[in-house]
Parts: sequence; C-alpha cells; structure tokens
Amino acid sequence: MTGGVNPFTFAAVARVALTTAKASWTVRAIAGALASTLAGTLAGALVGTVTPVAWAAGPGTATAAAALAGAAPVSQNQTGGIDLHFRPDGTFTIVQFSDPQDNESVNPRTLALMEQVLDTERPDLVVLTGDNISGSECKDAALALRKIVAPMEQRHIPYAVVFGNHDDEGRLARAQLMKVLQEGAYNLSQSGPTNLPGVGNYYLLVHRHDGSEPVVALYFLDSGAYAPKAVGGYDWIKPAQIDWYRETATSFKAQLGHVLPALMFFHIPLPEFDTVWQNGTAIGSKNEDVCAPKFNSGLFAAMVEVGDVKGVFVGHDHVNDYIGELNGIRLAYGGSVGYDTYGKQGFPRRARVIRLREDNPANFETWIHLPPDHGLDPSW
Ligand SMILES: [Zn+2]
Repeated sequence: MTGGVNPFTFAAVARVALTTAKASWTVRAIAGALASTLAGTLAGALVGTVTPVAWAAGPGTATAAAALAGAAPVSQNQTGGIDLHFRPDGTFTIVQFSDPQDNESVNPRTLALMEQVLDTERPDLVVLTGDNISGSECKDAALALRKIVAPMEQRHIPYAVVFGNHDDEGRLARAQLMKVLQEGAYNLSQSGPTNLPGVGNYYLLVHRHDGSEPVVALYFLDSGAYAPKAVGGYDWIKPAQIDWYRETATSFKAQLGHVLPALMFFHIPLPEFDTVWQNGTAIGSKNEDVCAPKFNSGLFAAMVEVGDVKGVFVGHDHVNDYIGELNGIRLAYGGSVGYDTYGKQGFPRRARVIRLREDNPANFETWIHLPPDHGLDPSW
C-alpha cells in the first residue's frame, strides 16, 4: 500500500481455529401475505422507484427489513426469510468459495476443504462466486450443484450464489440452476429482476446485531459468460445491471439518510483488477492473466460515484488471489477451491474469508484460508 497504514490485514497462512461461537443467525418466518405485499411494494424500489421504508427499531421493522432483502419480484417462492445480522460481538464473517468447477462426482478433497474452512472459520454467510459446477462435464448438473451447497446445508449456514461462465454449459440453463438452488433451506440466492440481463442480480442486507437497521448491503451480479464472437473474450456487466445497482444504492441512501456501505460479488473480474495489480498496491499472488472482458462497461466508475462499495470479490482466475485498493475500493480474488479443475503446482486450493465489523463495516478484514495439508501434499 502507498501512503501509510495498510487498512486491511491479510495472512497467506491457514487461519487458526477461532473461538467464536457457531454461526449466529435467525430464521424469521414471514407470513406469505405480508411477504408478497412487501414484495409488491418494494419491487418498485428494485427497478428504480424509491419506496420509503421505515428502518426504526421494532419487531415489525425487522421483518420488513428481512422481506426487503428477499423481496426481488421473481423470488416469491421464498416464503420464509433468513435475516442476516451481526453477532452480539459485532462481527459478521463471510467465506468466499470460488470455482469448484466439477461434475456430480465432486472431488472429495474439494468438499473436505470446504468443510474444513466452514468448521474453522464459522462463517455467518457463504458466497459462491461462480463456476460452481462445470456444466459441460456434468451428466447431472442439478446433482453437482446440490453437492456443492451440501456442506452449507448440513451446517445450517446461509449461502448466496452467482454464476460463472461454466455453470450453464451443460443441460441446465441459469434459470434452471437457480431453481435447483432455491430448493435449499439455507439458500439466499435469487434470480433478481426479470428485466435485467442474466440470472442472479440481487442484494442482501446485513442488519445490526439487534436486528434493527441494515449496516451493510451485499450486491450480487451475474457477470455473464462470453462476449459475442465478433468481440471475443469474456462478457461484461451490462448498463442495465449497473443502473439497477446505482438505483438500489440510491434508494437505500434515501431511506437511511446516509450511504449504506456495501460489498459486491460476481464471477468475472473487472478490467480494474489488472489496474490494481499494475499500480503495485496489491498483495497476494498473481499467477495468470486477469481474464477480464475486453470492454470496460463502467461498473467500477459507478461504484466510485455512488461511494458505497468497499470491496469487490470475484473468482474466474483460479491461481490469482491478490487484493489491492483502487480509489478506495478493495478488489479481491478468491482463488479456487476446486481440486478437479486447473490449478498451479505450489499454489494450493483455497478460500477467502471476509470479516466485517458492525461499528466500522468499511474497514473489513480479509484473509486467505489454505488447506491444513499445505506444504505436505505434492498433488496440489
Ligand atoms: Zn470462469
């Protein structure tokens, strides 16, 4: 980092077991009628019409906030809500798993690493940042996806998913894969507004430990797959998605009276991931090119203008795991957790951990979790 104190911590070593209690979260049942009413009311906010919502403390408000988090118009099959909130100790921990990229015979080492990460880090939320399966290698893509989310289902840990360029290369399209995800009791993934490109443009809110007002917004975007052949390379996030993010963040600001700090998750890195590596502020590993789209469609500029996003987390490039800061936004790779997809000798499979604090959510900690057999296993 240039110009003073490094604002974040990073440890390229396996994290020792934490002493915090098992993931703390509550499930709040939302009456179907109330949820659908709120969904109808708040759908406008999602597509740009600001609908004021009172955030004052109170049980009804907590339910309303939970409904807002789960109230994308196309997610009305979700009749219950999982209300994400900080723990009483003021922390909220997210584990990012990226690019397992396997078929229905998921490599047991991939699942073992995921389980070891979950049991050690005790996250409050898991985010899967794409290429969760390798669709083209699947005989049964639904089974492959169910196996990837099973470690979280078994541990009752909520999880949110975005898709990559390989998930839907088999028999199941993104919308079908999203339906599979929505079978899960702890799934928080949503299709998102139907007028947006892709499947899986949505947000979740993390509330104060007492369940009152939101402290952090988590945005999830579908970064697509491949650009048109005439352009080549990978797809870019579309203007309509950027507009949706900006309008949603603006509506939060109008409701809360201040900018709501945010993190953003998607699969394919932005061109700015290369910029942040080139400017020398990044720490971590870069073992392959930044496979960003050839066009810069302006999402990063929108984030800078809105001023809410403090961290962007992507996958796609399995053997990059660096993090660097550009214009006040930290850009981070997660690395790959998958043992049956490409890697690099001497670069073990891994996961990223993010720890937010309720009293200063912009200044999150993050580190890379390496497998406990690091250094002993020659098969990387
Ligand atoms: Zn990818």
